[in-house]
Amino acid sequence: MAKILVYCEASKGSLKSASLELLSAAKLSGNEVEACLLGSATKDAAAKTGEYGASLAYVCESDQLDTYNSDTYMQTLESIIEKSNPDIILASGSASARDIFPKLAAKFDSGIAADCTSIEINGADVKLVKPMYSGKCLADVSFENSTKKFVLMRPNQLSVAEPEAGKAANVEEVSLVSNDLRVIVKEIVQGASKRLDLTEANVIVSGGRGLKEASNFQLLEDLADVIGASVGASRAVVDAGWVDHSMQVGQTGKTVAPSLYIACGISGAIQHLAGMSSSKVIVAINTDPEAPIFQKATYGIVGDALEVLPVLTEEFKKIL
Ligand code: FAD
Repeated sequence: MAKILVYCEASKGSLKSASLELLSAAKLSGNEVEACLLGSATKDAAAKTGEYGASLAYVCESDQLDTYNSDTYMQTLESIIEKSNPDIILASGSASARDIFPKLAAKFDSGIAADCTSIEINGADVKLVKPMYSGKCLADVSFENSTKKFVLMRPNQLSVAEPEAGKAANVEEVSLVSNDLRVIVKEIVQGASKRLDLTEANVIVSGGRGLKEASNFQLLEDLADVIGASVGASRAVVDAGWVDHSMQVGQTGKTVAPSLYIACGISGAIQHLAGMSSSKVIVAINTDPEAPIFQKATYGIVGDALEVLPVLTEEFKKIL
């Protein structure tokens, strides 16, 4: 039996859904599953990994880990990997994981497969699928002669298993490793958005250049308030400075897969589709009936988003 170590992330004390996906995939393989979590107040979340199949969770609760520092995270994770000695290391492709894991793979003289959308684990053998050229083709990826196998999965691609309520993982505390820091991060200023991060959101209302000007994003905010959505955007409007880059969906933005994605005034360029085409239901509002977004949409409204959005908001208010 092979051993899988899952790098989990928590937000406000709860395991992120992307981490639950990885634990579920690891459990499904029938291999031994261990987890690790870094950051203060993560012990409870670490124990919870047991409900999704982890027998042991390594946790480092130092508050020095609350502000992301590449060196500290890497060194601490390196010590955890040495202790666990897994065959396979799974992580979700968050910004920090994409920073740390290629370096860790190099440290362990191993290969890494990043941005994968499907995974099949058979013992220590791992088969992956990875979209290339903005999703125009899918590559089958496997490892050759790799000491360990590092995998970064795209979030929202795998299903989450039913938790086994009350089944806790054994928690092993590990010490912070923080030697010869080259950079001291003093503060990270979070974006002002009060909404759930796009990668975690179940409903997203997204706007593009068809909204005409930045102030019309308020129409998206109004609808999002009523239906409990997060607000996303196309790159065109991010580049125009209408909204922050953290809201960009697509190849060079975030990959999302909510239950409902409402695209307003977005043409559906391949680079935008690359980030949202695995959404379960896609609604497109566009004045151009030939817009490529309609080829991906479950439901389409041919119309002016500036007129349709207030109507939708009022109608949802009546039923929600
Ligand atoms: P447009 O293409 O200008 O489309 C506007 C749409 O609004 C049109 O379909 C129009 O019919 C419709 N419209 C106009 N008026 C209205 C109205 N009143 N009501 C309703 N509809 C209306 N793009 C991304 O989004 N994300 C990425 O991550 C990304 N990465 C990229 C990476 C690379 C390397 C490159 C080259 C490009 C990338 N792009 C990305 C850009 C992408 O190619 C498109 O240019 C961009 O997605 C277009 O944004 P848009 O749909 O908002 O604007």
